[in-house]
Amino acid sequence: MIPNSPIRADRIATDIDALAAITEPDRPWTRRAFTPMFLEGRAWLEHAMQQAGAVSQIDAAGNLIGVVPGRNPALGSIMIGSHSDTVPDGGRFDGIAGVVVALEVARALRDQGVVLDHTLEVVDFLAEEVSIFGVSCIGSRGMSGTRPPEWLARTHDGVTLERAITKVGGVPHAVAQRDDIKAFLELHIEQGPVLQNEQLDVGVVTAIAGITRIEIVVEGRADHAGTTPMSARKDALTTAAWIALGVEELAKALSAGDTHFAATVGEFEMTPNAANVVPARVRMLIDARAELRDDMERFIDELERGVAAIAEKTGVSVQAPRIVSDNQPTPCDPDLLAVLDAACDSAGARHRRMASGAGHDTAWMARITKAAMIFVPCLDGRSHSPDEFATTDDIALGAQVLLDAVVALDKQLQETE
Ligand SMILES: [Zn+2]
Repeated sequence: MIPNSPIRADRIATDIDALAAITEPDRPWTRRAFTPMFLEGRAWLEHAMQQAGAVSQIDAAGNLIGVVPGRNPALGSIMIGSHSDTVPDGGRFDGIAGVVVALEVARALRDQGVVLDHTLEVVDFLAEEVSIFGVSCIGSRGMSGTRPPEWLARTHDGVTLERAITKVGGVPHAVAQRDDIKAFLELHIEQGPVLQNEQLDVGVVTAIAGITRIEIVVEGRADHAGTTPMSARKDALTTAAWIALGVEELAKALSAGDTHFAATVGEFEMTPNAANVVPARVRMLIDARAELRDDMERFIDELERGVAAIAEKTGVSVQAPRIVSDNQPTPCDPDLLAVLDAACDSAGARHRRMASGAGHDTAWMARITKAAMIFVPCLDGRSHSPDEFATTDDIALGAQVLLDAVVALDKQLQETE
């Protein structure tokens, strides 16, 4: 418990348990966006928003929003929240902790009789996780005006995304970029082990890493595995293995400093993949994530050079690395970071700044408003797994930080206008 705090850990625990109970029974915890389970979770959240004194509504993009009007609606809104959808067999905390904490902040303000000058909005973004339609962050991209129009024609089981958004209460063609949100804050579990290892309470997120995916194809030659002399082979696999080790070495070097960098050969296909044939072809896909764009550019440069050197050495031809997708990193707003640092200090939360290696709704909200997020620790960094766990005390302390930050922002945003 936090002394003299209006944040109630017991309410947070009750809410998380209530949402955890809304799962596909034989697959805990599964509540994928657009499924009947998801709508059941939403109905529960709508009720909880109303209990917290908010007016609930679904926006055109399909986000569920609880609105607590401020004293001066002309000032615009402060928005807090995250997402209630899960991956298949996911955890009870990813996204959910952020929605529940946003609800608790609204309740804590109401319990104290505090009405903000800005309107407070508690949001449950639609489909943050990769959905049954194969795309993610559908709600936050809608709200920020960055949802590609062609997405609406995507289908799953004969149903279009357009129809699915309508079914959750949205108006797919009416989405418009919001311009009245003055700040957005999200709490999320870290999904990594750093806070636990360093015995810290809160991570103040400096940036959401950019993600670049790079495809490399190695073209060897299929030959008899028994009769082809070792000196006369064009083995695609062994060349690919050199490349994979090179990716690891490069990523280790780039991650040795203070900023976040990670790269993974996550997809790897070998053909013909037969015991008695020298491997003819390998396709691999690298997922690289960087807090700083400069690091990503260095990685791509050095990868190109390294791949050419390996091809030269092994005599097996390698196509030049091809960039399949490339997203820039999203820095969080520096003013909000200062507010969050101060809120951590006043709440007595041991904190550090850190980047997010995972994508989040915050990255899309940052396109239209000042946006930032905090992490709370999760057990052994486990996430997207039924083993995902975060303690109620850690989440409640994060809620306290968010509450202090919202109250501070309510004043500060007016001073800077
Ligand atoms: Zn999440």
